Formats: sequence, C-alpha cells, structure tokens
Amino acid sequence: MIAKPFLAAALATVLGGLVLTADQSKPKVPPRTAADDGFTDTPMLPNLPWHVHDPARPNPPIVTPGNDPGAAPSDARILFNGKDLSQWAHRDRDKVLEPTWRVRRGYFETGKGSLHTRESFGDVQLHLEWAAPSSVAGNSQGRGNSGIYLMGQYEIQVLDSYNNRTYADGQAAAMYGQWPPLVNAARPPGEWQTYDIVFEAPRFENGKLVKPAFQTVIWNGVIVHNRKEVMGSTIYRNVAQYKPHAPELPLMIQDHANPVRFRNIWIRKLGEYDRPGQP
Ligand code: MG
Repeated sequence: MIAKPFLAAALATVLGGLVLTADQSKPKVPPRTAADDGFTDTPMLPNLPWHVHDPARPNPPIVTPGNDPGAAPSDARILFNGKDLSQWAHRDRDKVLEPTWRVRRGYFETGKGSLHTRESFGDVQLHLEWAAPSSVAGNSQGRGNSGIYLMGQYEIQVLDSYNNRTYADGQAAAMYGQWPPLVNAARPPGEWQTYDIVFEAPRFENGKLVKPAFQTVIWNGVIVHNRKEVMGSTIYRNVAQYKPHAPELPLMIQDHANPVRFRNIWIRKLGEYDRPGQP
C-alpha cells in the first residue's frame, strides 16, 4: 500500500509540472499598436462618414449564434419554441382572438383561421420549419397548402411539392402568383423542411410606393429567391399590386384547410449598418 503523504507529494509534483509547462508554452501576444485600431490617414469611403479602416466606425453588436444549425441566435424573438402559441393570435378585423390551432409534441398544426403574430415586423430574417402530411391526400394546390405571409401580405408558398405537379408560381417556396423558386428543393411529405427568409419591407411615402419589397429565401439550405423584387400583395388569379400599409405588420401563417405542421420559428428584426444597438 502506498502512503497517502507520498501520493499527495507525487500529485503536487505532477500538477506543478503542468502549471510550469502551461506557463512556458503560453504564446507571447505582441502589444497593441495604434494600427490595430485602424487608420485615419486613409481615403474616405464614398458617400460615407468613414475612412477606410476607420477606428471611429462603431463595431457591430455581438450576437451569439445558436448551438445547432437552425437554432435561434441570442437576439432572435422566439415565435414558437415547441410549447405554446403565446406569440400568436387569430384576428377578426380589429379583434384579437386566442389561437385555436393544436400544439402537439414540439410542433403545431394548422387549424381553422389563419394565425398572426401578436407583434408587428418590417425588415426581418425569419427561420421556420414545416412538414406536409406524410399521408398524401389531394393534389396540386390541395396538398399540404399553407403559406408564410410576410406582413400578412406577401406569401411564400408552403405546399407539398414532392412529385406534385401544379402551376410553377404556386409551388412550394414560390412568391405566390409572381415567381417560382429557382429550383424545387422539396423533401418528401412528412419530412421537416426549413425556410430561411430575408424580407425587406416596402416603403411608402404619402400613400405612394417609393421602394418595393424584396424577398430572399433559402429552402432546405438551397437558395431559391435571391433578393427578388415583390410585385405587390399576394393575390389569386390576378396581378399583384401594392396597397400602402404600416411600416410594421404581423406575420401570418395561412389556413388553407390542409393540415401542415410547423416548429422552431424565430425572427430577427434587421438592423442598419453602423448603428450598434439596432434594432
Ligand atoms: Mg398557400
């Protein structure tokens, strides 16, 4: 049997050695110089108040990314975390009604009446996951139809588009009635699919459109709209037109009488360049 004092002494030697090794192997960080902060003897950037590499230019806010792909970053508003629909409501003109859609194990399913966020949004980044029913019923527009309406106006179509022929500008990820997706990246019915959407809200001044909306959509990791201009508010069998509206409006998920599942929904208001702390 080895005596305890001996063990303690041996341990101290080993630990001491580790500490010593750590100290010795520590890389030497060179002291900061003025150049580390930037330069003021550089040209001005065009139409900006900053020199190239300007030390006075504000650093952007720090955001901690989610741990896994698709997980919400630290500054996201969580619209659905798998538990409840507290961020959502039905709307009947000015009336705000409690959501009736069913929440099941980590997801919710479309029900009667479209669902709106309680909060309003303008320019955003949106992540969500959806799945069409695994048992295929119906065809064309009657198969896993729902929709993501940015500002309650501008639809990115949700549809089971796996071996399901329909008109191009009505398939999944289409800017409905306007632009089909660049490619069809559909997963089979029943499988979870992701949409990552960047939406730039339209701007109106004195009741007139001064800047249209733009949509960027990544579907299951594949880009299907690259900052594509939106023609106007989504409409069926007609040409979309803009109707002036508020700068921020609720996001809507469409009830199209097909059961579609949703999970992991988060949204970020887009900030402006050079304005730390925004939005
Ligand atoms: Mg739809």
